[in-house]
Amino acid sequence: MKIIVCMKQVPATSKVDIDPETGNLKRGSAGQRTNPYDLYALECALQIREKTGGSVTVLTMGPAQAESMIRDAYSMGADEGVILSDRKFAGSDVLATSYTLTQGIELLGGADLILCGRQTTDGDTAQIGPAIAEHLHIPHCAWVSAIEKVDETQITLRQNFGSVTQISRMHYPCLVTVDKDICVPRLPSWRLTKETRERPVRIVTFEDLPKPDLTRFGAVGSPTRVERIFAPEAGAESMKILGSAEKKAKKLAEILAERKYI
Ligand code: FAD
Repeated sequence: MKIIVCMKQVPATSKVDIDPETGNLKRGSAGQRTNPYDLYALECALQIREKTGGSVTVLTMGPAQAESMIRDAYSMGADEGVILSDRKFAGSDVLATSYTLTQGIELLGGADLILCGRQTTDGDTAQIGPAIAEHLHIPHCAWVSAIEKVDETQITLRQNFGSVTQISRMHYPCLVTVDKDICVPRLPSWRLTKETRERPVRIVTFEDLPKPDLTRFGAVGSPTRVERIFAPEAGAESMKILGSAEKKAKKLAEILAERKYI
């Protein structure tokens, strides 16, 4: 079984500077860490490989410094790591990012199972996984909270949608995005860190991709325009809700729903 896990390095803090011209995050202004959701995706992949055999490849689009994330994934048990890195990928929105990752997957010869985190803690759209599945014309399940059953031909998953739980079964090839708490990511192993110290991390550039069409990558291939990014002003507006705990909770829920927070 061939598994690809899409993982991304994100700013380690929420205090990231924003480029006033482009509205893009200045990623160099904060330390980097692995997107927390992606550790759950990697752990699921490793557990599936333990059952079915096969390989786990970590794929990321980002700067070369993402090598440290791949090395951490090697220390957890990943077999191979690939970074899609090129100036031509800069400024990619969801459409261009998902297309670039899809091209990376095709370059690797596809996969039986592609695993992503539910969302990132920076871009936060939760759209990349489903978008990759659409580019590849394969089925997907998003926000998966449990893997019920897995074998060499199919996977059975549970999704929690608040009041509804859905159990789905998919044949490979397919894509799954996993929610947090689906499993407990293992700690990096000292033995694996030592054993994989010399293992290469493959760097793939624009020219290496199967369809290097400039109009689909980076800022040029991104129809999204960020008009303005700003921190919401903290207002002095406040209100007091009185009554029993039950009444207060009900009123609060109404107010949050009215303002579309829930
Ligand atoms: P989500 O959809 O929330 O992520 C879900 C899952 O998809 C993740 O858990 C992970 O498994 C996978 N995933 C997401 N991104 C990657 C990745 N890069 N590699 C591997 N797996 C991934 N970001 C930049 O870093 N540099 C830029 O220059 C830049 N310019 C932008 C310009 C515009 C106009 C816009 C709108 C956005 C820009 N972004 C840039 C942000 C970037 O588009 C998003 O971070 C990216 O599309 C991923 O979306 P997300 O973070 O919401 O991922």
